[in-house]
Amino acid sequence: MKNDVPCEAFVDWPGQSEMCWEPALFVVERVADAPLTTCAKHLGPILQHARNVLWPQTVEWIGPGSKPRNSISAGSQEAARTGNI
Ligand SMILES: [Zn+2]
Repeated sequence: MKNDVPCEAFVDWPGQSEMCWEPALFVVERVADAPLTTCAKHLGPILQHARNVLWPQTVEWIGPGSKPRNSISAGSQEAARTGNI
């Protein structure tokens, strides 16, 4: 399964800023704002710096194949269902 959703993080270069465009592996849910898709490299920066990130942070796996075992967000419905908090 190929994922063609791009990462929405901005990459800053001297004098310019552009979208990352790496294939997104995660979706970060936000409050009163559209969810952000992100590659693995920008997951940390988005969780730290994006506006209106939901608390507790909710990260969904949208990458190809099965998600990593430790990709369940603490406090998410899935964590509550599986007891994996
Ligand atoms: Zn990225």
